[in-house]
Amino acid sequence: MQNLEENFWQKIHIYKDISKEQWQDWKWQIANRITSLNELKQIIPINNEEDFLKISEIFHFGTTPYYISLINPNDENDPILKQILPDIKEIDEKYQEGAFLDPFLEDVKSPVPGLTHRYPDRVLFRATNFCSVYCRHCMRKRMFLEDERARTKEEYDVMFEYIRNNKSIKEVLISGGDPLTLPNKKIEYILKNLYEISHIDVIRIGSRELVVNPYRFYDEKLLQLFEKYDKVWLITHFNHPNEITSETKKAVKNILSTGTPVLNQTVLLKGINDSKETIENLMRDLLKAKIKPYYLFQCDPTKGVYHFRTPLEVGLEIMEYLRGRLSGLGIPTFAVDLLGGLGKVPVLPNYIIEKNEDYIVFRNYENKTVKVKI
Ligand SMILES: *Cc1c(COP(=O)(O)O)cnc(C)c1O
Repeated sequence: MQNLEENFWQKIHIYKDISKEQWQDWKWQIANRITSLNELKQIIPINNEEDFLKISEIFHFGTTPYYISLINPNDENDPILKQILPDIKEIDEKYQEGAFLDPFLEDVKSPVPGLTHRYPDRVLFRATNFCSVYCRHCMRKRMFLEDERARTKEEYDVMFEYIRNNKSIKEVLISGGDPLTLPNKKIEYILKNLYEISHIDVIRIGSRELVVNPYRFYDEKLLQLFEKYDKVWLITHFNHPNEITSETKKAVKNILSTGTPVLNQTVLLKGINDSKETIENLMRDLLKAKIKPYYLFQCDPTKGVYHFRTPLEVGLEIMEYLRGRLSGLGIPTFAVDLLGGLGKVPVLPNYIIEKNEDYIVFRNYENKTVKVKI
């Protein structure tokens, strides 16, 4: 957790005259995104400008002022910097073997543009391809190659129609891009239409705004929408304890006050969070902020992202380490998303040592064993 000082942003030269009202306005954060090398250089030193330009021409660069303000500019290995700074490995062919632009065939297994219907009871709804921060490890990195745009109301209407006609769908996952970068009016249009479909029980919003622009949840109008369309769950994406701040806590409090649960998905990222201690601290800080850890993912085999992948054993060792040491509330499900859109599978350390018709031998987190008659 990072404890931020009063007016912490004013320490950064280019933000020294920015008032609290401006800084805490989510629209100011998006309007003042840093997207070019020239802007970036005023905040952190960049060693290889040529590489930056070469990579960002293919996979764009972008961050909010808030997110970059959390970086220690003197640390090349800063875990937040590594999530946003282009790395030559993203376009180095050596790192692309076995990687795909669309590993889960989201665009193929799609009944209408923008929807992916993989499981019978839930459907993925991609509302926009815009994000306020471009995460280098994005599983939908193919979207960086497209023009930034939100879908139109007419496109949404086709998506609603499909959902309305499929009564087996109980849940809609609104994702993107980042759907909470949309204006409130458009968010209301989506929430209202989905809310009115009687077989929809849950509207799950997947957004990273809580991490990169917590001021989105200082917006009363958005909070009112969450309260009014009372089927909303928020899933966010924290990867490192440094991303959790006093601003996060305040934002989560606002969200919870609307009756909206807040859960988190983390991705294991080599050199960023692939250690037991980092993940333990992250899960503890999430609990402190009242965010429930939901998934811990093996990094996906997406083109441009492969250099972040860790061996499966790293995740298993972390899960083994967490059990017994950390409250069950803080333990996520470790999962791998299967190639070809076959779905997510949970992966666990093995706690059953022997099994036959009469008994099972379990081991616990301390490796003590016990024989249980079944
Ligand atoms: C991840 C995902 C879901 C949701 O899976 P859960 O296990 O319920 O979190 C649904 N549809 C698609 C296409 C997904 O990728």
